[in-house]
Amino acid sequence: MLTQNLGYPRMGSRRQLKKACEQYWAGKIGADELNQVARTLKTENWQTQLDAGLDLIPCNDFSFYDQVLDTSLLLGNVPQRYTPVLTGVAGNSEIDVYFAMARGYQKDGLDINAMEMTKWLDTNYHYIVPEFTANQEFKLFSEKIFSEFTLAQQQLGKKAKPVLLGPVSYLLLGKEKEVDFDRIDLIKKLVPLYVEIINRLKQQGAAWIQLDEPCLSLDLSNKEKEAFEYAYRSIANRVSGIKILLATYFEALLDNTALAVNLPVAALHIDLVRAPEQLDEVLALLPNHLILSLGVVDGRNVWKNNYERSLQLINKAVAQLGTNRVIIAPSCSLLHSPINLDDETAIDPEIKNWMAFAQQKLQEVAELKQIAQGDDAPLAANQAAMDSRRRSAKVHKPAVKERVVAVTGADALRKSPFPVRQQLHRQRFNLPAFPTTTIGSFPQTDDIRRLRARLKKGELTIEQYEKAIEEATIEVIRWQEELGLDVLVHGEFERNDMVEYFGEQLDGFLFTQNGWVQSYGSRCVKPPVIYGDVSRPQDMTVRWITFAAAQTPKLMKGMLTGPVTVLQWSFVRDDQPREATTNQIALAIRDEVLALEKAGIGIIQIDEAAIREGLPLRKAKHAHYLGWAVAAFRITASGVADQTQIHTHMCYSEFNHIIEHIAAMDADVITIETSRSQMELLHAFAHFAYPNEIGPGVYDIHSPRVPTTHEMVALLTKAATLLPAENLWVNPDCGLKTRKWPETKAALQNMVTAAREAREKISVESVV
Ligand code: GLN
Ligand code: ZN
Repeated sequence: MLTQNLGYPRMGSRRQLKKACEQYWAGKIGADELNQVARTLKTENWQTQLDAGLDLIPCNDFSFYDQVLDTSLLLGNVPQRYTPVLTGVAGNSEIDVYFAMARGYQKDGLDINAMEMTKWLDTNYHYIVPEFTANQEFKLFSEKIFSEFTLAQQQLGKKAKPVLLGPVSYLLLGKEKEVDFDRIDLIKKLVPLYVEIINRLKQQGAAWIQLDEPCLSLDLSNKEKEAFEYAYRSIANRVSGIKILLATYFEALLDNTALAVNLPVAALHIDLVRAPEQLDEVLALLPNHLILSLGVVDGRNVWKNNYERSLQLINKAVAQLGTNRVIIAPSCSLLHSPINLDDETAIDPEIKNWMAFAQQKLQEVAELKQIAQGDDAPLAANQAAMDSRRRSAKVHKPAVKERVVAVTGADALRKSPFPVRQQLHRQRFNLPAFPTTTIGSFPQTDDIRRLRARLKKGELTIEQYEKAIEEATIEVIRWQEELGLDVLVHGEFERNDMVEYFGEQLDGFLFTQNGWVQSYGSRCVKPPVIYGDVSRPQDMTVRWITFAAAQTPKLMKGMLTGPVTVLQWSFVRDDQPREATTNQIALAIRDEVLALEKAGIGIIQIDEAAIREGLPLRKAKHAHYLGWAVAAFRITASGVADQTQIHTHMCYSEFNHIIEHIAAMDADVITIETSRSQMELLHAFAHFAYPNEIGPGVYDIHSPRVPTTHEMVALLTKAATLLPAENLWVNPDCGLKTRKWPETKAALQNMVTAAREAREKISVESVV
């Protein structure tokens, strides 16, 4: 019996990679120093996995920005617009093209857009979307996979297992940049390069290669299924002496089971955390030669593995296959887990005893093998931890459970329909056409972050801290007034993170000191851990929003995070259904909405940035999820009077299949991400004749690039052809927290000018 890992977090336990990348981007360190940091991280991570006693250890799971972008570079899929970054600028190298693709390039007389970014399946990790053209060619470009394997081999010997995104998922996760062709047809051109890569790794001495094909867990068309057949048969015909492990995760294989088990590979990995029930289906169809890798340790959550439950699965597999054909593994790459629970010194020891981070999960994999091979020693402590969690009064609060049960349909219904509310809002707020606003946060400078760090260390009193935050808030309000924005925000300077801030004030949440996970590029989030029933002991935002509102005669928007987003961006309980937890959060935030309204705040934004990413990977499961997710939003939003305007915001949302549910949320105004896709997303809204007001983002905040007024007017003009102009708002794609001040000021200045031009150029039905 073997054990393996599929991928390890690359940031480093002190986020060394983030710091190094950001210094490199700022020109403070050179490529050599950046590479040195990477090398140290890889070596440390491999050592940790070696020490845990794993048999197969991943390499090429490291990435400076994103593993899908790495794959594009490996395959020479570098869109032509980036060529000048390499050829036209002295001193630039591959890494600069790489970062240009990720982040855009706006210096040296060049001005090139970043590539699109989207969520990695149903996680909060973002990847850079590969672009394909009809005449796409693939040609080996980056040598990273080979050099990283060489490095790994020196340390790990035969245990080193290179990891690569498989060819079919690589195509499926990308996007056509020209019309009239289907990217899946590129499989014929792509496979020879995969063959070349795999053969070269074999020559270097690789015994195994892991090809990640997460798309095998999605709904596939016949053509896509054929692409899998074609790709893996062709590879098998032209590659030998290296074992291919096909890794699937995040969902059951379901109707793709027969396809997956019959692909000519050495081993198949399945996710038995998300879908334990698929073990029976897979075992029933498994051909005699195939090795099965059992993903029994949750790679996406922070809870200790339930050994008894995992062993039932392992024993069932072993009974049929024998130990030689079973591998024990985490469910997916540990990229989505925080790194080391041992670094946490402040978690309540009772609760900490229920938890495991990446490093502990490696241990769990090793212990499961130990137990499966007959040594029960680790079992008792594990069972004791499971019992303690099941019975703890820290988890179970009867009053919270009762309040959820008492919710009725009326609690999820605004008092009047939207057209009535809209008239009331127009009278109350008297906004111009194309009203301008922002999504909430303004740049969190180092100065602001330092304030929080100093408060934590006791170097500042709470009074000093709040005074400094107040000053920053006043400054940003003055600046918004000068700029001429219509609906102001307070800037969210008091918030470390839009979910953490709320979690810190709600009961049932705990916080880690170092539980970071990568969100995109150098950006990490430290999700709260929901361990118990959720309630709200006191007001959470009223103090800051009312302070801000008192500084200005202009409209001040209240800013909250919605229940689904809180759920989605937290580590959630695995001891009750997600919807049960969401409803508890919804009631807590509803109380906060009402407290803001009572304090005189007329416009309240409830961010549901993450509603779409919670969507199950299989279409058959969408309706159920959207039903409870939309209901939770409505419970949150529907306590207010008609005169109160409820906004919601969503990032990176593709709305085609869910538009009716988005409309069912019945927010008075929705702001969405649209600029990177050139308003493409609006077609769904237009086609549906979306009735409420909408702010399609007119510029991309994930890149430091400053958009021109002209570009934004063009986007607004396009939006006005698709939707009634009188329903349009003007705003950036998302919050500005991660941006720097100079680009933010320049961009918003251009945005306000664009709105003014739109008011002149685009005809709008009378709004009042
Ligand atoms: N209000 C939040 C902000 O501006 C929204 C961020 C988000 O949607 N990710 O930061
Ligand atoms: Zn957003």
